[in-house]
Parts: sequence; structure tokens; C-alpha cells
Amino acid sequence: MTTGNQSEDHHESFRDRLGTVGEGGKRIWIYPKKPKGSYYKKRWAVAIVLLAFFFIAPWVKYQDEQFLLLNVLQRKFILFGQIFWPQDFHLIVLGLITLIVFVILFTVIYGRLFCGWACPQTIFMEFVFRQIEYLIEGDAHQQKKLARQVWNFEKIWKKTAKHAVFFFIAFLISNTFLAYLIGSDRLKTLVLDGPLPHLSTFIPLVIFSGVFYFIFAFFREQVCLIACPYGRLQGVLLDTKSIVVAYDYKRGEPRGKHNPLEDRPLSGKGDCIDCSSCITVCPTGIDIRNGTQLECVNCTACMDACDTIMDKVKLPRGLIRYASEKGIAEGHNKLVNARSIAYSVVLLLLITLMTSLFFFRSEVEATMLRVPGTMFQEYGPERLSNIYKVQLVNKTRNDVDASLRLDNHSGEIIMMGGPLKVPGGSMIEANFLVVIHRDSLKMSSTPLKISVYHDDRLIDQTKVTFIGPNDIDKK
Ligand code: SF4
Ligand code: SF4
Repeated sequence: MTTGNQSEDHHESFRDRLGTVGEGGKRIWIYPKKPKGSYYKKRWAVAIVLLAFFFIAPWVKYQDEQFLLLNVLQRKFILFGQIFWPQDFHLIVLGLITLIVFVILFTVIYGRLFCGWACPQTIFMEFVFRQIEYLIEGDAHQQKKLARQVWNFEKIWKKTAKHAVFFFIAFLISNTFLAYLIGSDRLKTLVLDGPLPHLSTFIPLVIFSGVFYFIFAFFREQVCLIACPYGRLQGVLLDTKSIVVAYDYKRGEPRGKHNPLEDRPLSGKGDCIDCSSCITVCPTGIDIRNGTQLECVNCTACMDACDTIMDKVKLPRGLIRYASEKGIAEGHNKLVNARSIAYSVVLLLLITLMTSLFFFRSEVEATMLRVPGTMFQEYGPERLSNIYKVQLVNKTRNDVDASLRLDNHSGEIIMMGGPLKVPGGSMIEANFLVVIHRDSLKMSSTPLKISVYHDDRLIDQTKVTFIGPNDIDKK
């Protein structure tokens, strides 16, 4: 997307390099002005909810278990109070496939909405680290002044205080991630014991804290510009109907420094008064008036900045707004179209499907196999037996007294080693015999259905085969 009155030379030159890279390839440090406005307030509200969730969730217990746990080492996962086992791996794979489809469809319709409102990088950068920076070093022009000045007492204490707080928060974030991985109870024990007895955990923790510190203190917007794979995908996912943060060049051009309160309509200029407010607040250092760019994380700061200017010059808000390139070219502000409705319906269906798969999966899962290497055995003069192994995974928190029943054939199931009692949130294995009267077998290999019951309630059903002598087939 390009705009109206720029010279041909200038038209695409901004695409030659990133907004944060100077002529000699050196990084240009961005000092974005602190945003103000209605979108910023709404983003603050969302950020507070997300940050609170991130820091509090590992400490919330549900029926004595952590509400959210991603213990990769012990292969124990609890999502929103629901325990997941390696046996639920197919759900995770399905979930990931759904997520990829979801991300593609979502981005095609809503652009980088996620980047601006919910991405952890943006939330931590803009609503935690940047806020500390504003607090200690002041707004953009004070930060620039501080960067230029010699290393005097003021600069030393401000920089030291800022970086000390940054590292402390990075350490806090690492600890919180650890609580998701190993569990908050275990983390509490590690903290109470001190670092020395747990150096194998403490050293990686400090390294991760260092990485987080480096990202938020130095790497910053470069994550979005050069490291984030989602950001790289924008070029192929966005099209002219996608909703993005866009400058209405039809309305704004020809831009120029003028005072609309005094000289309109005589000046013949557009609504953009070329005040650069939208550029000074941009955390990725771009000029949104050049059109949709790879660097734009849809943070809405330029929308707020421009709305403030429009209020001052008594022009309608929304010179920079959520819009599609097509909408701006055609001069309308319709965000909803048949495609966005259709895609949104598909997104809703995907969410419903995944939620149902996750929450209506079987509570107790049984896996049965004939014990490898065994054939049939004589069980008395008239009966034959096969030996099987059953593995029962109890995904609930309550103990399950399970029993097995033969569904599609006459015969008997004899448990070896006592009744099947599966404690909540655990797995047991046991062997059992299926005993069938020789005369009731019609084939040497008979398919059997075995059901698992708990208090007369069917909880799972599995198929196995019963092997008999070959001479049955010849009868
Ligand atoms: S152009 Fe606007 S929305 Fe995009 S990153 Fe810059 S300030 Fe945020
Ligand atoms: S803030 Fe609005 S008026 Fe000012 S330069 Fe940007 S687009 Fe133009």
C-alpha cells in the first residue's frame, strides 16, 4: 500500500531496510513516546488480565492439583484443571493442527491483532519493561537526553536502577515459567532450600533470566522484526481485505503542515497535518503513512496519537484506524464482509471442536493386548484360555474400581492379582485370563470386545482377539 503525494523516489525506499537499521547497517535505537488514548487504556486492561493470569495461574489449585501444569519431564499436563496423559497425545497433535489453521484464518481476517493485544512479547515489553523505563528515565525526549549525556551521577543511578529492576523481573518471569514446568509446590521447596542444593536447576534459571533480560533490555522490537516466525508469515497471510492498522491516505493526502482550524478548505490539503505524532509513538520506528509494513505490530499507538491530533484540530477521528486496504481504497469503513463472517464461523467451529475433544475425552482409558509370545492354554478338559495385559489410565481425581466384562462372546474373565483399583490421576497394569468353552469357538482367531465398567457404568471398550487351536477352522 502506498500513499498519495509522495515522490516516486520516496515511494518504496522505506522498504529497502528496516526502520531500525541506519544507513551504515547500524541499529537505530527507538525511543517511542508514551502512548495515550482510548485504545491504550483498553490494551492496559487486557494486559493486566493477561499478566495477572500468567503470574497467578501456577499458584491456583483445583482439587489439590495445579490448575495449569506443563510438566514435560514427567509427562504430566494439567490444562484448566483437566489432567492430560501421554495417551492423550493425539489430542495435543489435533490441538496443534487446529491451532495452525486457527492462526492462519485469524490472521487472514484480523491481521496482527494478536501481536498488538495479546502477544507475551508485546505485553511484557510495553506494559512492564517500558513502563519501568518511563518511570525511571522519563518519556522519550528525556530518555534521549539521558542517552546523550555523559556518565554523571544521574545517568549512573538511573541506568543501574533500571537494569537491576529489569533483571529482577526477568528472574521473576523465569521462576513463573519454572512453576508451570515443575509445579509451584516444587518451586516453593527449591526457593526455601536456597540455590546451593539445587544448582542444576538454579544455573539454567539464571541463564534463562539473562536471556529474558537481554530480550527486554536490548533486543526489544527486533524480536518482532527479525526473530518472530509469526511476524515473517504476515507477508503471505495478509491480503487487501485483512483488517490492519491503516492510514486513510484518501482522506489524509496531500499531507502538509497546516492548521485545519484556520486554512481549510482553502489550503487544498488533506487531513494529515504532518505532525509526526504517529511516528514518535511507534515502538518499531515506522511511519504507518507509508502503508502496511512488516514492522507494524498493530499496537494501535499511532491510532491513539492521531486521534488526539484530530480532536485538537477538530477533524473526525480515525485518520489512522482499523481498516482493510480495500476499504480505504473504496472509501468505506466496513470491517465485516462475507469472507470474514465465513472464516469467523469456521474459527468458532474449530474452537468448539477442540473444546469438546478436550473436555469430553474418556475419563478412564484402557489398553489391552494379549501378552506377547503367548498362545492359548488348556483350562480344564473343555475350556481354553488366553492371557492379556490391561493398562488403565485414570484421568480423573477420584479412585476408580474397575471391572472387565466380555461383551460379544460367552466366557469368563479371571483377574490375576486382585481387583482393578486405579487411584485418581494414576495408571495401573494388570494381567487377566479370558476363558472360553472350546465348543463355542467357531474360528481359531475370535474377535472379542471387552468393556471396562466402573460402578456399572461403561467407561471404555476395547477389541482383542482370542487365539484357539487351528483345527477349529477345519471343522
Ligand atoms: S505503525 Fe502504529 S500500530 Fe504499527 S507498530 Fe507503529 S504505532 Fe503500532
Ligand atoms: S498523527 Fe495523524 S495528522 Fe499527525 S502525521 Fe500522523 S497521520 Fe498525520
